[in-house]
Amino acid sequence: MTERRRIDIVTARGPSSCPRCRREGLLLVRVPYGWTNAVGTAVDGRIGVVLCAGCDAQAPHPAPLFTWFHVNSNVERETSEEFVRLLVAWAENASVPPLDEGRLDEEISLWRSGSL
Ligand SMILES: [Zn+2]
Repeated sequence: MTERRRIDIVTARGPSSCPRCRREGLLLVRVPYGWTNAVGTAVDGRIGVVLCAGCDAQAPHPAPLFTWFHVNSNVERETSEEFVRLLVAWAENASVPPLDEGRLDEEISLWRSGSL
């Protein structure tokens, strides 16, 4: 049995910037991810994924969302169902970058030294 991924739509005070190009993202969702750590224990968590008009313009899954934003600038009651359907379709296919262990070690060192 496949468990459905729970996806959170995050509303922040300010718009989130795209981690790839640093420009303003259209929206941010938090999607579940998981990996097995060095001792074989499953580690679960959530990661924020930003929808970016620049970086995601050529990707197939967010394309209907961009069209939706182009036609409807805000989510209204009569368009919310369609918006949620497109959002879920995109978020379910949003790729979560694999764990970069080198970068993790670097960040742990920075955290230990008080630089993070
Ligand atoms: Zn971007």
